[in-house]
Amino acid sequence: MIFVLRKECSDADVQEVVQRLAHLGLRERVFQGADRTMVAAVGDCDDIDLSAFESLAAVELIVPTVSDEAPSPPAPPPGDRREVCLGPAGAVVGGQKIAVIAGPCSVEDRTMLLETAHAVREAGAVALRGGAFKPRTNPYSFQGLGERALELLAEAREATGLAIVTEVMSPDQVELVGRYADVLQVGTRNMHNFNLLAAVGRQSKPVLLKRGWSATLDEFLHAAEYIINEGNTEVIFCERGIRTFEDHVRNTLALAIVPMIKQRSPLPIIVDPSQGTGVADLIAPMSKAAIACGADGLLIEVHPQPAQALTDADQTINIAQFQVLMGDLRSLASAVGRMA
Ligand code: PEP
Ligand code: MN
Repeated sequence: MIFVLRKECSDADVQEVVQRLAHLGLRERVFQGADRTMVAAVGDCDDIDLSAFESLAAVELIVPTVSDEAPSPPAPPPGDRREVCLGPAGAVVGGQKIAVIAGPCSVEDRTMLLETAHAVREAGAVALRGGAFKPRTNPYSFQGLGERALELLAEAREATGLAIVTEVMSPDQVELVGRYADVLQVGTRNMHNFNLLAAVGRQSKPVLLKRGWSATLDEFLHAAEYIINEGNTEVIFCERGIRTFEDHVRNTLALAIVPMIKQRSPLPIIVDPSQGTGVADLIAPMSKAAIACGADGLLIEVHPQPAQALTDADQTINIAQFQVLMGDLRSLASAVGRMA
């Protein structure tokens, strides 16, 4: 159920609707549009007595939503864009500057992590991403260094000022990962893990939400709603490729979702061409394509010696390749009215 309020409504009018919903045991999401405020009721709306709201002068329209179907957030007014701040150093995703997040798929040891961190910072990255807890398909593969990796990431932040992004795999890891990281990554396999989404929604660090590899646009948007409904509005979408019949790539990078997300949500979206293709040679061309179609940033796997990487070696570029790519992105970004 969505309540569209009259143009001239006051803050007190909005609060009146919110309080009546609370009285019915419902929560709310308030959407501030360019000229209208909308309040979406969150919870089981089947038995709402509409007369309690129809009598309010500030309510112009009540839009019912189909039972069992979560209300999709109303499309933001054109130009309503949200910036997400990555951490204390002030790096932002969703502003004019393209935010590049880079680093190894997994944190392997101190030397490689610090070398990579310094190099990607020099080349213009705003955040370091490294996996501490790895979601591996094969239970016998390297699973990540766990808390030791988080300590190394925190050391790399101290040394470089880069914000730290790392994956959290379960609700019981949220407190630990949140203690070290600036941004919590929810991976593709967990986009439908609603308990995890709610758990990262109950803490205040931004969330990098990867698209499930078979998730539709609506499922992706609704996954973000699980986080936002718990109070954390700092969500960054990440397109990382979906599973298709294509066998020349690991995943099919579905870039059309970038402009589509921008029509449906004010939140920023970045693109991960590393998981999105699985092929190191495709990282540069697909990074450029992502920026050209409006992505707010990139997530790129970089390692001093990709061939030696313990995870995702085939899709990881080396430091020299990353430097060249960052240079190319600078001219491309200015051609599409952005900065890199
Ligand atoms: C990763 O970023 O290394 C990763 C495992 O990502 P995804 O969840 O997109 O597969
Ligand atoms: Mn990876």
